[in-house]
Amino acid sequence: MTVHCNLCGSTNLRPSYFQMRDLAFLATFRLPVRCRYCRMRFHVHLLNALRIRRGCHARRVKAMQVGRA
Ligand SMILES: [Zn+2]
Repeated sequence: MTVHCNLCGSTNLRPSYFQMRDLAFLATFRLPVRCRYCRMRFHVHLLNALRIRRGCHARRVKAMQVGRA
């Protein structure tokens, strides 16, 4: 299951910084993410947020490997 941006429909998302107002969303197992395309900030389910976080990490590791070669 892929998470899409509510505004532009892009799947290019990244985890957003946690703010105090996100506590209410955390109670419903939702974490903040931000769209890299339109900068829209919204909340997705914890599992989807973790998947986005993992995707970001994988890309970063790959970039480091390319840089080293
Ligand atoms: Zn968007």
